[in-house]
Amino acid sequence: MTKHDFTLFLFFSAVASATFSDEQEFSESESCNEREFDKSHFYSNVKYCGEIPLTLSHKLIDALPLDEVEGNFIRAVKGCVFSESQPTPLKEPLTLAAVSQDVLRNILDLNESVVQNEEFVGCVSGGKLFPGSIPLAHRYGGHQFGYWAGQLGDGRAHLLGEYTNRKGERWELQLKGSGKTPYSRSGDGRAVIHSSVREFLCSEAMHFLGVPTSRALSLVVSEEPVRRDPFYNGNVIKERGAVVLRLAKSWFRIGSLEILTRTGELDVLRTLLDFVIKEHFKSIATNDPDKYVVFFSRVVNETAHLIAHWMSVGFAHGVCNTDNFSLLSITIDYGPFGFMESYDPNFVPNTSDDEGRYSIGAQANVGLFNLQKLLEALKPLLTSDQLSQSQQILREYPQIYHQRFHELFKAKLGFLGNEENDSHVIAFLLKLMEDTGADFTMTFRQLSEVTLSQLQKGSIAPSVWALSDLSSHEYFRDWVQLYVQCLLSVESDSDAARQHRMQGINPRYVLRNWMAESAIRKSEKNDFSEVALLQKTLMEPFMNQDEAERAGYASKPPSRAQQLRISCSS
Ligand code: AMP
Ligand code: MG
Repeated sequence: MTKHDFTLFLFFSAVASATFSDEQEFSESESCNEREFDKSHFYSNVKYCGEIPLTLSHKLIDALPLDEVEGNFIRAVKGCVFSESQPTPLKEPLTLAAVSQDVLRNILDLNESVVQNEEFVGCVSGGKLFPGSIPLAHRYGGHQFGYWAGQLGDGRAHLLGEYTNRKGERWELQLKGSGKTPYSRSGDGRAVIHSSVREFLCSEAMHFLGVPTSRALSLVVSEEPVRRDPFYNGNVIKERGAVVLRLAKSWFRIGSLEILTRTGELDVLRTLLDFVIKEHFKSIATNDPDKYVVFFSRVVNETAHLIAHWMSVGFAHGVCNTDNFSLLSITIDYGPFGFMESYDPNFVPNTSDDEGRYSIGAQANVGLFNLQKLLEALKPLLTSDQLSQSQQILREYPQIYHQRFHELFKAKLGFLGNEENDSHVIAFLLKLMEDTGADFTMTFRQLSEVTLSQLQKGSIAPSVWALSDLSSHEYFRDWVQLYVQCLLSVESDSDAARQHRMQGINPRYVLRNWMAESAIRKSEKNDFSEVALLQKTLMEPFMNQDEAERAGYASKPPSRAQQLRISCSS
């Protein structure tokens, strides 16, 4: 096979070039007046935690327009960014199934003993409110599976308020699964145990893998039955309701802006955008006439980086709609995600995604689509010159993505130099993995665990199972030869140093669906021991851990793993 043949197989980095739609023209609607709200009604009939030392502030509603219509009933909302909405407590008895000590201590400045306090479970599940909290549901829209879906919004999430920690970081706390809001459409406002366990574990795992993400403080489960039709075939089952308290520096999404442009609420759009830039893009001067272009360029850059990062750990989000794409380019809204096992660019984690729109190999392109939608949302605020500049920025997205993808995969293979051959060696390896179905995570990990001389001898023990699968390829030896050549070109490097570097970035453990499923089955029977083991394991995904090894987390996936189906019902 020639070098040229193999570069064709760099599926992961295939991104279509940017195209632009000028179809939409937006008009300025009636402006949203400055309004002074009497917030005293928020404080009546609400139970506050008296003993949990966590006071929240509400900069968001001080700065952004609030729905003038009151009441927690489902409606089309206009002229605002948030609606007031109180959580509906889950039925007791409640069990605190898991807590992230890292979030507790290092984000919320709380001592671990706070978990013993009787009020804690209530506070993290919507039964009681942290002092200062004014719960809100955010109004947003979005493109779902390629089409404009209109108003979506937080249909089962409540933003509790912001906490500024000792380090001066500002975090927004949100409950998911905490009951109906004005945006619940026909939904029940609840989340079930299986999706909540998955979100709790995966968002924390992604953080420890180094991927930008929302975080999760806690997982509370109840006995409250929630009805779901997981495969949309009329087989309704009852699952237990659960609530995750999750955190992000900001929960704004592309869809947060899109809905305002679509409805022509351009004053609100400008207010929200200015707020996001002032709070989260601090290096952009608020009086810069090109600030929206600079903002767009940052989001393009960071989104390309995020998706390249997902690819580098084999993560498929599953539902890359614009309402699930963060303006801060962090991973949010974990649903039917999956870590790819056997290498396959067509891997689709969501069994309801029949057309494979959100396959792992399509994510880079989908990122581009979503950024186009972001630009359409910004368009009414841009001059024609700024629009052209922004379109040019978007044209650079494939290049930014390729560059980051290349850097990350180079590091995964331990390359230090700038060898011309690097891209070829990466593409060649991915092709061998695709042909042999070798495990994505463990191929890279095991490459970091064997010595180069073992590789060159081709003496791969069956216990080194992913590499052993890979070595069945007729071109394996050719690839090893090229790989070794690239590595040896850097004279100052040593094999031990290479192994050490690679082991620090190629995880031994990721949250495979079969592992999550096993923990979920036990959780349904109130046994949270496997949630705890996974949580502990995934906090140090690069470290060999005895208990994780005994649980088989780095072993060849069991055959039942292949039959697992993850629906987007949650
Ligand atoms: P997701 O697929 O979770 O990103 O959700 C898409 C939209 O549907 C968002 O507006 C959610 O708030 C809403 N949604 C999803 N599940 C429910 C539910 N059980 N109850 C109410 N709204 C929901
Ligand atoms: Mg969502």
